[in-house]
Amino acid sequence: MADRRIVLIGYRGTGKTTLSALLQERLGRTGTDTDHLIEEKAGRAIADIFSEYGEQRFREMEEEVIRTLPGDMMIISTGGGAVLNPVNVASLRRDSLMIYLDADPGVIAERISGSGRPSLTGRPPEEEVRSVLADRLSAYRSAADVRVDTSAASPDESVIEIMAYLTHGPGKADARSDLISAVQNTQIPQTEQQILDIIKARNDIILYGILGNPCMHSLSPRIWNRLFHEYRMPAHYTWFEMPDPGVFLERASDAGIRGLSVTIPHKETIIPYLSEVRHDASTIGAVNTVLIQDGKTFGYNTDWKGVYRPLEGAGGEKAVIIGAGGGAAAAAYALDMRGYSTYILNRTVERAENLAARFGAEAGPVSLVESLRPDLIVNTTPIGMGNDSRIPVPLSVLKPGVRVFDFVYTPADTPLLRAALERGCFVIPGTEMFIHQLAEQFKILTGIEVPTNHIREMMS
Ligand code: NAP
Repeated sequence: MADRRIVLIGYRGTGKTTLSALLQERLGRTGTDTDHLIEEKAGRAIADIFSEYGEQRFREMEEEVIRTLPGDMMIISTGGGAVLNPVNVASLRRDSLMIYLDADPGVIAERISGSGRPSLTGRPPEEEVRSVLADRLSAYRSAADVRVDTSAASPDESVIEIMAYLTHGPGKADARSDLISAVQNTQIPQTEQQILDIIKARNDIILYGILGNPCMHSLSPRIWNRLFHEYRMPAHYTWFEMPDPGVFLERASDAGIRGLSVTIPHKETIIPYLSEVRHDASTIGAVNTVLIQDGKTFGYNTDWKGVYRPLEGAGGEKAVIIGAGGGAAAAAYALDMRGYSTYILNRTVERAENLAARFGAEAGPVSLVESLRPDLIVNTTPIGMGNDSRIPVPLSVLKPGVRVFDFVYTPADTPLLRAALERGCFVIPGTEMFIHQLAEQFKILTGIEVPTNHIREMMS
């Protein structure tokens, strides 16, 4: 870690300027402050830039300044709102260690009182800090590799904490080595064994991975590692094929794991082990993304975004979901958000009824699909996967203009999608769901927004 550029992010009043100066002194490095660079560029104080040109112009100048920051090992202190812009996060993350300085809102309000900076909301100071911090919390969490709470610590104590991180890296050496050995005992490819050997001997690579059982078939490591390479993030993504999500999570933080994609059969069973679960994930009842920071685990669901986003502008009113498992729950949530009137049809009707009751949908057997004449059909069963040549609905429902969304993505052109195309339907392949959920997951776990077209190209 010691030979990386260091970027300090967080709300003003959390100690960025003071700690930057102390770190420069301890590490014998130079430093810069993005707000000062903007002031130099504009020839005005930040407050004047806001009042004369408005926040929009300030953010444009900030993006320009951050994009052109030198890449050498300096200490960079950023403005409080800088990482709200994912373009800035991508620039800042290059070969850097991202440190999120945090503090209690009351402490921040006291520290910044009398700074002369304009209020962002016109509210009393502590109330303003509390509400702005709440809005920014997810951006700070996503953009940071490590969080340092400066509320009760002196600047020297915070610097010691940061220096310890620079020396020892993420996690504890023994825990990290044990967990990597456990991964090496799974059926991972030979090349991955060698990469993990290298990572074991280093303390400056942040670990991510897919947790499932089985999960060795997953293509996610290939895509994530290419993205880390392109964004020059000192990180590696591997396969965690582990039987028990609780046991794994207990070790993950100490081993310096920063983020997880979660797949079958752990999406539901992992929930009781998490520190916090986002509202959408708990409504769906499944977590496919876990961010780990400061010993805490935060659960998200990005599968529903993978259904919601490709349906932008799709139109139609009546939707049918085939299947009633975890994927169907994410689809039901997404269709509810899009305002469809939804029917959940499943081989085991009782399961469909239970799921429908949670989302204000109707339920029934798969045979009901013919009489419903839906505008949208979403297959969430594995029918059509691999060499399976079956189609989950009767061909008669595939009428011209009907939209057909297949969750199955291996192969990309499933028997259902081929039949639908032949009959004049619009089709949305499961690869689109995969791409959109991955883009959202990458944003949550790194703060960087990857264009979906880019992931699409990587998959072709
Ligand atoms: P799940 O919880 O196991 O649910 C599977 C559902 O499919 C159940 O309702 C099950 O019916 C039904 N089903 C299974 N085999 C069937 C068969 N032979 N005939 C009729 N119905 C059958 O699985 P899941 O997590 O929802 O995942 C479902 C599929 O979505 C998987 O193929 C997965 O790979 C895919 N997926 C894709 C993406 C993506 O990014 N494209 C993301 C997530 C999931 P019963 O209730 O009667 O057992």
